[in-house]
Amino acid sequence: MNYHNATPDEVFKKLTTQKNGLAHEEARKRLEEYGANELEGKSGKSIGRLILNQFLDVMILILLAAAVVSVLVGEATDAIVILVIVVLNAIIGFVQEYRAEKAIEALRSMSAPEALVRRDGTEKKVEAIDLVPGDVVLLEAGNLVPADLRLYEAASLKIEEAALTGESEAVTKKTEAIADEDPPLGDRFNMAYKGTLVKDGRAEGIVVATGMKTEMGRIAQMLDESDSETPLQKRLATFGKQLSLGVVVICALLYGVGLLRGEDPLRMLLTAISLAVAAIPEALPAVVTIALALGAKRMVKQNALIRQLPAVETLGSVTYVCSDKTGTITQNQMTVQEFWQPEEVALPEATELTKEQLLLLCMALNHDVKKDEEGTYLGDPTEIALVEYVRQQESYQEDWATQYPRADEVPFDSTRKRMTTIHEFGDRYLVITKGASEAMDDVSVQEAGPILNRAEQLAHQGMRVISYSYKILDSLPKDHNPDTAESDLDFVGMVAMIDPPREAVQDAIAECFDAGITPVMITGDHPATAKAIATRVGILRKESDKVITGKELANLSPEQFEQEVESIKVYARVSPEQKLNIVTALQKRHQFVAMTGDGVNDAPALKKANIGIAMGITGTDVTKEASHMILLDDNFATILKAVREGRRIYDNIRKFIKYTLTSNAGEIWTIFLAPVLGLPIPLLPIHILWVNLVTDGLPGLALAAEPVEKNTMKRPPHNPRAGIFDRALTVHIGWVGVLIGVICLGTQYLAMELDNPKWRTMVFTVLSLSQLGHALAIRSGTVSLFRQGLGSNWQLTLAVAFTIALQLAVIYVPFLQDLFHTKALAWQEMGICLAVSSIIFWAVEIEKWIKRSRAVI
Ligand code: ADP
Ligand code: MG
Repeated sequence: MNYHNATPDEVFKKLTTQKNGLAHEEARKRLEEYGANELEGKSGKSIGRLILNQFLDVMILILLAAAVVSVLVGEATDAIVILVIVVLNAIIGFVQEYRAEKAIEALRSMSAPEALVRRDGTEKKVEAIDLVPGDVVLLEAGNLVPADLRLYEAASLKIEEAALTGESEAVTKKTEAIADEDPPLGDRFNMAYKGTLVKDGRAEGIVVATGMKTEMGRIAQMLDESDSETPLQKRLATFGKQLSLGVVVICALLYGVGLLRGEDPLRMLLTAISLAVAAIPEALPAVVTIALALGAKRMVKQNALIRQLPAVETLGSVTYVCSDKTGTITQNQMTVQEFWQPEEVALPEATELTKEQLLLLCMALNHDVKKDEEGTYLGDPTEIALVEYVRQQESYQEDWATQYPRADEVPFDSTRKRMTTIHEFGDRYLVITKGASEAMDDVSVQEAGPILNRAEQLAHQGMRVISYSYKILDSLPKDHNPDTAESDLDFVGMVAMIDPPREAVQDAIAECFDAGITPVMITGDHPATAKAIATRVGILRKESDKVITGKELANLSPEQFEQEVESIKVYARVSPEQKLNIVTALQKRHQFVAMTGDGVNDAPALKKANIGIAMGITGTDVTKEASHMILLDDNFATILKAVREGRRIYDNIRKFIKYTLTSNAGEIWTIFLAPVLGLPIPLLPIHILWVNLVTDGLPGLALAAEPVEKNTMKRPPHNPRAGIFDRALTVHIGWVGVLIGVICLGTQYLAMELDNPKWRTMVFTVLSLSQLGHALAIRSGTVSLFRQGLGSNWQLTLAVAFTIALQLAVIYVPFLQDLFHTKALAWQEMGICLAVSSIIFWAVEIEKWIKRSRAVI
């Protein structure tokens, strides 16, 4: 049997289920039988792949080849040490990448979608992967269809099936059986398919297929899950390639010069290759991924769930945060404060309802709130507030819902700003519309003046106002046109509710201003309501801060809007579609925009924004799919926490790059300049590899643990167009690199002049220790280490101490002396090495001191 050919009753029978859904026990059994409702896609990188990756670097391969050659010509110990170092390097790389991979996987599973099912007669949210054939699923606008469904109830249901059929126009769904045996997917209007998007309306359906059995599974086309590289990674990859080329050229030159000076060709080859391995920052992109992934993991703890890794990096560049009011800036905990009706209300004929009862009846019937098993309400907080209020009133009657069953409806949408339900009313029909008061103005036949005045008054106090109107019809309207249902209505009354601002929001908004970020409020609410709340939380601060309505916005040309956009702080009564215009205009002004959203129509704006932020609690699947980041607690303050973390990570990546590239530059200068100045090459290949391993390894990674700097949220966002390699960074790498070369060669020259046979060990020590001093000094761009203290990044302190211990071991442990061709230094010699290497530390501290004193002036 084809499900689309069958009637709903036949499908219920076939799958042994009913409108009340499966029993919990039965659902559990079926889950075992049918398996999880998920598409089997590409999983993350396998462990084997990760390990192999560590060795697949061209330079590493060449190095290994060279090591083999040196074994063949009899230098076995050197070759073994090289091998050990390469393996250690690979282990560090693997562990890091594995952790990053795990972190990304965890993030992915956290953003898995849920579905609303009915089981044992009650509605319940379950994870979409737990759905089984026979489950009854409820759909509403904004849902991602969680499995293949045969629909048996559909109210203005529109589904966009582009993911499946390529057709971007939403399809209107119905419930009748289809006669055609095998219509194309796009014409199966009584089915809803996994992975498609509910654009509009409401529906119920029976799950007929899950997981790989669904149409989506059949064509095995994964939802767009391209794991894109971050802009920073791309830039670093390009940069890395250019740098590698430079390094290879230098090493080739070095090789030539060495040969001319009569060095041993094989050793010279190993030296050149080791230098290339050490100086090519092949790990940079990987380190960036690791820093971003681990950063994302930390952000989850603060309720910011990253869906796309680049977001971690771009968060630091945000200049505008455009936030919804309801639920993000406010608590979304609404309570009814006012129940207002005009003197005269036209009552329906032949009923005993009083005017108060009529309004209560409207409130009791016109909503989609449901109660779950524990008795908590599920649904829109606005409607929950209304329902809670009604049920506390004395004249409310429990049996209203059964006495006046719902016959039809026009669901709420935030462009119309109202919703309508139609109920059986004796042998006639009662049409109830609720929504924004001005929206009622178009439809109400009564004199609107006093009503609007009252609505305005309430809105000025920061309240959300909902108006109710009704009419009686003899028959159900045939067309599903909202205009027919929502015209010629009689006004019944209005209800106003407060939704207090969230606690931490005021501070978060103050933090925005400190950090050079402009907060903007966007809402569907009345401008007076919006203005009252925006003033209370500090978004509106100056005379010149503008409040604009959706209507006014629609009347502006794109050019005019662009001119004004930076002075507008509050948008009221906007439709979600206009959010896209706001993002576009701000981006034209070169702003870097974070935009929040929850409804299905917010998705395009979220995609377009530099950071699209979906609400975790109230957000729809569609918005979450389109977002870069999800706010698990829907809280505005969380955005700021994420920005702070983003800035920290960006800074730390920058510190890591600063550190590694400076170290590499120092090594290159030392090795390359020696023969040019007529000195023998001071370091053996294993020394070079060792320095690269121990200094870049632990201390480099520990820099990523650097806590957020005190002034991080007191300075403007970094310009995303400037890139990470700004002039300051290049200059720093330049001069410190040269200085490292100078002190190493100076040590070599003096030691050789004094005929000290340990000159090689001394240069080795100076190079290694000076890099550690550098790591400590660049923890902050401006603050002195003496202020920061060694405890504030104990990981780095530990890494430095450990690395020093390793270095001492290599110099003083006899066995290692043999391997590394080192000699024990006397304490005076060690003292000199320490003093000389600390030059780098002091020099960078002086650089920071100069920066500080300049900043004061
Ligand atoms: P916000 O951006 O604050 O979330 P919405 O788009 O949800 O605004 O709502 C805009 C207006 O629509 C509200 O001010 C209210 O008048 C009306 N409204 C909101 N929710 C409903 C609802 N469930 N039914 C009818 N009208 C509603
Ligand atoms: Mg809303």
